[in-house]
Amino acid sequence: MTALAKHFGQHVALEGLSMTIEPGEFVALLGPSGCGKSTTLRLLAGFETPDHGEIYLGDQRLSSAQMQVPPEQRRMGMVFQSYALWPHLSVAGNVDYPLRVQKVASSERRRRVEAVLARVDMTAMAGRYPRELSGGQRQRVALARCLVSQPAVILLDEPLANLDRHLRASMEDYFRDFHRETGTTMVYVTHDQDEAMALADRVAVMQAGRLKQFATPETLYHQPVDVDVARFIGQGS
Ligand code: ATP
Ligand code: MG
Repeated sequence: MTALAKHFGQHVALEGLSMTIEPGEFVALLGPSGCGKSTTLRLLAGFETPDHGEIYLGDQRLSSAQMQVPPEQRRMGMVFQSYALWPHLSVAGNVDYPLRVQKVASSERRRRVEAVLARVDMTAMAGRYPRELSGGQRQRVALARCLVSQPAVILLDEPLANLDRHLRASMEDYFRDFHRETGTTMVYVTHDQDEAMALADRVAVMQAGRLKQFATPETLYHQPVDVDVARFIGQGS
């Protein structure tokens, strides 16, 4: 993405945000509340239109002043902080939903739903409803629903924010293993320094709608660009 900007009325949510994420990379967007992390994900996913700037996936232009590729054609899967599961659909029904919308043939749908539920260790829960699941289980169903469309990039907005400490640790391991095994490009939003530093290949530190530094955890520790980044990284959680 290059020089992305997004304003809401007078309010500047993002200004001059440029970064290149490598295929297969695990990137964390880190910064305090209101710094523009969710806005960045929504722009990437195509739920919002940038005022300036362009977004590319490989050679394909997804977004510019002239054109917008619609969200469903972007090969990006988004997992929302609130999970946003359908309460009236079972686990399998939730995961199947995007395939139904895409009019995938039913035998193919069944095969893909089974495979992806196995992938997130939720096969035994396929017939349950969201209200009958723990937070971590709901999180995995939301991830499965994203994975079933086989996205090139997974966008995760504060995926662990609603979970208790124990579940957070186990889901952190889960994301790490998932990334290692599949090599899927991940963009992971968090306001938790420790989580970002533990998980990501590179961390994008954001402040007030701007990208302060985009570097490996090691570089952020040893060579922060300024005192703001140093303080933010050093805070712990
Ligand atoms: P948090 O950690 O609290 O989720 P964030 O970094 O995800 O914060 P964003 O949701 O991207 O922050 O918001 C960035 C800024 O843009 C905030 O100041 C927010 O109030 C503003 N903003 C976001 N969405 C809208 C909107 N639809 N209309 C007006 N202002 C908005
Ligand atoms: Mg947010």
